Amino acid sequence: MVEHVLPESGARQLYRDVAQAEDAAFGKFVNDINDELSFLSMEIRIQTYQGDGKKYYGLVNKVADDQAKLGTKFQHGQIAHFKAMLESIVTESKGAGAISTMDAINLRPDLQGNTQASESSQAAAARTLSASEKEKNIAELITEGWLERLSDGHLALGPRTFMELRTVIQSLDVPACKACTEPAVKAQACEAPGCSTWLHDHCAKSWFNRPGEPRTCPECGAEWAAAPQEETAAEERAENLAANGHRNKKARRERRSKT
Ligand SMILES: [Zn+2]
Ligand SMILES: [Zn+2]
Repeated sequence: MVEHVLPESGARQLYRDVAQAEDAAFGKFVNDINDELSFLSMEIRIQTYQGDGKKYYGLVNKVADDQAKLGTKFQHGQIAHFKAMLESIVTESKGAGAISTMDAINLRPDLQGNTQASESSQAAAARTLSASEKEKNIAELITEGWLERLSDGHLALGPRTFMELRTVIQSLDVPACKACTEPAVKAQACEAPGCSTWLHDHCAKSWFNRPGEPRTCPECGAEWAAAPQEETAAEERAENLAANGHRNKKARRERRSKT
């Protein structure tokens, strides 16, 4: 499987392997690459993933639209099914940032409200997908890094989706995080009536961890009801990914030494 998005530890490891250089020059290295890539309208984007609060690095095409990014691997109906899942996760999961597999399979892409003819034909194609075709679609989207399956079986958006389909997420009616202003998909809300303040799980963690910071809403001052975040399965995941990168590298080295 090709990694489209790397956790920071993996990106730094790759840099050390390729450049044979010290970590201190890593930031400059990324900047230099981005200067070179700009004429291709590509960039290395660095983003904190809402799923685990860790930094990820990804190569992003700045001009290709979402259709082009998904279109080479997926059929019309699959894309519309994915968009329906994305929209449901972003707008209806109330900060959980995930939906159940059953809900994902039962989603029926909306034929109304699609302004472009191509989108409504996509939606029509998605409506003809059987449950098993939708399950297969979900599995492929996970393999390609667009979706993630959480340890409780729910489906969340993968780091790649936040990275490459940022404009799609921003176009949906989703509140912004008070701390970082990115769309609050996996996030906590202030429970005070009339207050609509949101903080990402990872932003809440660093916000309330500041010395002397009371555990109250930064906007209205009401007590912040959401419990402090425990170490999550998603955080372990990033470490697993990094460890996998290590294993692959070791395997490559072993292959090389045999030839
Ligand atoms: Zn945030
Ligand atoms: Zn509030």
